[in-house]
Amino acid sequence: MVDPIIQGWCPGSYRPMMAGDGLVVRVRPPLSQVSPAQLAALADLAEEHGTGVIEATSRANLQIRGVAEARFAALLAALDGLGLIAASPDLEARSNLILSPSHENSLAEDIARALPNALMDLAPLPAKFGFVIDTGPMRHLAGTSGDIRVEGAKDALIVRADGADAGKKVADADAAVLACVDLAQWFQASGGVGPDGRGRMRRHLAAEAVLPPAWTNTPPPPTAAPMQAGSGAVGAGFGLFPAAALRQISSATSHPIRVTPFRLLLLRDADMARLTHPDLILSPDTGLAAIHGCTGAPACPQASVQTRATARALAPLLPAGKTLHVSGCAKGCALQRPADFTLVGRNGRFDLIRDGTVDAPPSQYGLAPDQLPHIFGPQNAL
Ligand code: SF4
Repeated sequence: MVDPIIQGWCPGSYRPMMAGDGLVVRVRPPLSQVSPAQLAALADLAEEHGTGVIEATSRANLQIRGVAEARFAALLAALDGLGLIAASPDLEARSNLILSPSHENSLAEDIARALPNALMDLAPLPAKFGFVIDTGPMRHLAGTSGDIRVEGAKDALIVRADGADAGKKVADADAAVLACVDLAQWFQASGGVGPDGRGRMRRHLAAEAVLPPAWTNTPPPPTAAPMQAGSGAVGAGFGLFPAAALRQISSATSHPIRVTPFRLLLLRDADMARLTHPDLILSPDTGLAAIHGCTGAPACPQASVQTRATARALAPLLPAGKTLHVSGCAKGCALQRPADFTLVGRNGRFDLIRDGTVDAPPSQYGLAPDQLPHIFGPQNAL
C-alpha cells in the first residue's frame, strides 16, 4: 500500500485548491444548511464560474470545481453576498464543524453558532482539526472524521476527544462550547501540534498522550444506523449535483436544507414529485447509491487511475445489495466507511479490498483496469 499524499489542509472558500480541472472552491455552509434560495444561487454560480456541478463532500461541504483563477474574486464576492462564507479567513479556519444531520437539532445549532468565535482566543489549530456536533440521542456521525466530538442529548451532553473511549459530561450547550475550547487548549499544550503545524487528536492519543481523568468519565451514546437516501434525504451519483437538479431541489421545499457528510441533502416537507432529474438518488435501491468514486484522474493530481468511469462500468456486474468504492489513491476521499469492494488506484492499477475501508489490507494487488470486469463478472463468486 502506498501512503497517500496528505496536504495538511482542506480547500475552503478563501483558500481554494488548484486541481487538474481548475480551482476547487469549497463552501462550508453556516450551521451545515442552506436555504432553497441559496441552493438555487449556488447552482447559478456553479454554471457561471465552474463546471455547472456542485459536489457534496464527506465534510458536509458543497464545492464548485473548475473555477478559473481570473474568476475566483467574483465568485468569492458572490458567495459573500449570499451569506455562505465566514466573515474572515480566520473565522472560516475555526468553523470546521459538522452538525448532526437532523432538522430537529437546535442544540447543535446553538453550539455551532458560539464555537467558532470562542475558538478565536486560541492559537490557530491545525487546518484539518475539526469538531463533530452529534447531539443525539443516538450518534449519527460516529464514522465521520472529527477531533473533538460533542455527543448525546439535552440531559447528557458529552464532550469527547476523538480516539478516547469516553468523554466529559457537561450540562448544556454553553458548557459544551467551553469544554471544546478547553480540550482544544489541552491538545495544543500537550504537544498535539507538530512543528509543521499539523496534528490530529486521534494520532496524538495513539502516540501516548494521556487525557486528564475528568475527560474520560462518560461513555458515548449508542450509534445510529448509517443515513441512506430516502425519507427526504436526496443524493446524486458520486455526490455530484448538476445545477438543474439543485434547482429542482430548491423548488421542492420552503425549509432550510441540511447538508450532511453522507453526500446527501436532507429536505423537510418536500414535494418529492418535483425531483425527476436522472442523476438524483431518492432511495437506497437506486443503482447509483451502491457505487462511490472520488474525482480521480485526470482532475486530481494524486490519482493515476480513472475512478468514476471505472465504477460506472463495474456497477452492472456488482452482486445485488453490494457496494463498490473506487478510490484514486489510498486517501479515500469519497467514502470513509467500509464498502463490500474497494478498489484503490496505485501506479495505474488497482488493489482490491473486501469488506473494508481504503486502509484495510488488500486481498489482490496490481489489477489492470481491463482485468476488473473478469474479477467482478458472474463467473466469480463474489
Ligand atoms: S482519494 Fe481520489 S480525490 Fe482523494 S486525493 Fe486520492 S485520488 Fe484524489
